[in-house]
Amino acid sequence: MENRIREVKARIEAACERTGRNPEDITLIAVSKTKPISMIEEAYNLGIDNFGENKVQELTKKYDELYERYGNAIKWHQIGHLQRNKVKYIVDKVALIHSVDSLRLGHMINQEAKKKNVICDILIQVNVSGEETKNGVEVEELTPLFMELVQLPHIRVRGLMTIAPYVLDNEKNRKYFSKLRQLFIDIKTKNIDNVVRYNFDPNSFDILSMGMTLDYEVAVEEGATMVRVGTGIFGERDYR
Ligand SMILES: *Cc1c(COP(=O)(O)O)cnc(C)c1O
Repeated sequence: MENRIREVKARIEAACERTGRNPEDITLIAVSKTKPISMIEEAYNLGIDNFGENKVQELTKKYDELYERYGNAIKWHQIGHLQRNKVKYIVDKVALIHSVDSLRLGHMINQEAKKKNVICDILIQVNVSGEETKNGVEVEELTPLFMELVQLPHIRVRGLMTIAPYVLDNEKNRKYFSKLRQLFIDIKTKNIDNVVRYNFDPNSFDILSMGMTLDYEVAVEEGATMVRVGTGIFGERDYR
């Protein structure tokens, strides 16, 4: 695992070098879904402190066990589709929910965050490729959803996330990453009227979560601030 992590970091740095970016501006999230706690600890001891999971039950189990040993030093990311009835289990445990794609889900996160007296950081997931199987809001729905979400006081909208199509030629996804970045800039610089603006600080709208094992370098070149790498760190997944 040590070599894999070193390689991923080197490739991120190379992508930064090509585009004049600072590697410190990119957070590497190790996607640990299906992988045992022992591997998460191994990665943690090699300097990884952000982990992504897509199932609530798996996330909370790993969280509970590792929290006892490492406390808040490990940050958890909910990256997969989130059902509303599961929000209550993670809202005060995760650093970031990457997969908000409806106002109903936003309301539930706001409500549960309020109960726990926290502010929950979220990303809006956008289906930039238009693939039917992908979750996420359609591009046309993004601004209306954003305008509603920023009015919820226990949510902080930190940016955008996308899952690009599965391709072997990573260049094919460049246009989707570039599109997400453009949407991100449009929102950040938009003149939203004061009524809506009260809960939105453009300076904390600063996260673009895009790129996975097969395409994270292209995503970094196109402006990603978080990449979600599973296989590239932990090896192939064994789905039971
Ligand atoms: C599984 C998963 C990843 C990581 O996939 P790899 O191809 O193994 O890097 C990233 N993002 C999401 C949302 C995932 O579900």
